[in-house]
Amino acid sequence: MYLVFGKKHETADSLGFSNAKRVNQVHGDVIVTVEEIDNAEGLLNADAIITNLSKTPLLLNTADCIPILLYDSGKQVIAAIHCGWRGVINGISIKTVCKLKDVYGVNIEKINAFLGPSICGDCYDMTAESLLQFSRELLACGYKAIGPKHCMDLKACVKYQLKSIGVKSIWQSRDCTKCLSDTYWSHRYAVQTKSKAGSNCSIITL
Ligand SMILES: [Zn+2]
Repeated sequence: MYLVFGKKHETADSLGFSNAKRVNQVHGDVIVTVEEIDNAEGLLNADAIITNLSKTPLLLNTADCIPILLYDSGKQVIAAIHCGWRGVINGISIKTVCKLKDVYGVNIEKINAFLGPSICGDCYDMTAESLLQFSRELLACGYKAIGPKHCMDLKACVKYQLKSIGVKSIWQSRDCTKCLSDTYWSHRYAVQTKSKAGSNCSIITL
């Protein structure tokens, strides 16, 4: 297994993965297999890709959302999940793990999860309206008031969700895309500074 969380200057092409499988990420909870991607006419609307095929890289594009990569060494299965605040609420990380179990029979306790660079809890303030959609448990693990700002630590929420279904090995990048906007693309930074927007690529392959 090989994985990479790309920085601003790195693209799927420059990293040597121009053939990577991708989807049109829409903040939903649809999970597709590589076979479904290959059989589709155009880009599928989905936010997670799973496969047990070797030499078949999976690609995510994010700019503040969390790129989540999963690897099960027992069954040799991988997954790539795009997860923003809607992904936390719709539980896409949990649903993807469950699908890995259903489709490939993986042992959830043996899954390795990798959470890539994304916006940190101090940088990610939300409207009260959006916050109301989070469950009490998620607010308890991710919410923090900073002055007048209502902030959420989405990574803490995803870690909580993955642990809740039995994933034991969870690695997380300490890098915040917005704090480190020289290194990574950040949607919030681009909007606030009216600067050029882009996305960071994350890749995993067997
Ligand atoms: Zn930050």
